[in-house]
Amino acid sequence: QPAPPLPARPRVFTVSNQKGGVGKTTTTVNIAAALARFGARVLVIDLDPQGNASTALGVPHHGEIPSIYDVLVEGTPLADVIQKSTEDGELYCAPSNLDLAGAEIQMFGIDRREFLLRDALERLFNDSENFYHYVFIDCPPSLGLLTINAFSAAREVLIPIQCEYYALEGLSQLLSTIEMINKGLNPYLEVTTILLTMFDTRTRLAHEVAADVRTHFPQQVLQAVIPRAVRVSEAPSYSQTVVSYDTMSVGSISYIEAAAEIAQRGAPGTTHTTTQEATD
Ligand code: ADP
Ligand code: MG
Repeated sequence: QPAPPLPARPRVFTVSNQKGGVGKTTTTVNIAAALARFGARVLVIDLDPQGNASTALGVPHHGEIPSIYDVLVEGTPLADVIQKSTEDGELYCAPSNLDLAGAEIQMFGIDRREFLLRDALERLFNDSENFYHYVFIDCPPSLGLLTINAFSAAREVLIPIQCEYYALEGLSQLLSTIEMINKGLNPYLEVTTILLTMFDTRTRLAHEVAADVRTHFPQQVLQAVIPRAVRVSEAPSYSQTVVSYDTMSVGSISYIEAAAEIAQRGAPGTTHTTTQEATD
């Protein structure tokens, strides 16, 4: 199979869901790794103080290492904190560490506090040496100033949904937050991509929730579904994505399929139907 096309301009995704443990970080690093394998230059911005994305990408992120905290609070150029991942291909990461937990309070005193990440990305993109086809921002499980910075900086939202009870309820809260962001901070932000994760094929509930989500968001939900698979959860303890840890495993293959779909669909406004059009 030929590699999917590369976007001409950077596509910036925020991977969001205010629930914890739904697969945001796992989705971020594995989609990013798969796209890098297709030949894309990919940047992951770790915006969660837990630093799980940094760990999964094999990027050191202890307290002494320049991190996204320095970018947001100290005004350090993003280019100065980016490290190359140990994964295959052109995959990079702006790491986070626990300093970031205190960043929200410090950011409140800074000018343009909702746009610190957007400004840092713009500065990065203005330097032609720093071209990226894709940027993925891994969000913390809350709707604080860090997530707001991600929403201001991104054009596309990728929502991982765990196929279980109340999946749609949590989603409506996230969608109304995005609507609010559209009115104020970022009119261009749109939910382009929904990925069903931790799918358990044996349960009827999983199939029902998946069907429900597809009915509500026919344009956004990817065909590929990520099954619940042990190899996926093992990979981070080896500082790897499942895509490199066990390339031929079902988890890896489904993430590669999801990444190919994202690449094939292209940026919104090209071949994609927007959320707005879908709900009109
Ligand atoms: P979040 O970033 O939303 O908090 P994570 O990506 O960290 O969620 O996932 C939560 C936990 O579930 C982690 O331990 C992760 O390894 C595990 N996990 C994620 N996706 C899968 C999957 N498809 N199969 C099995 N375990 C998974
Ligand atoms: Mg996470």
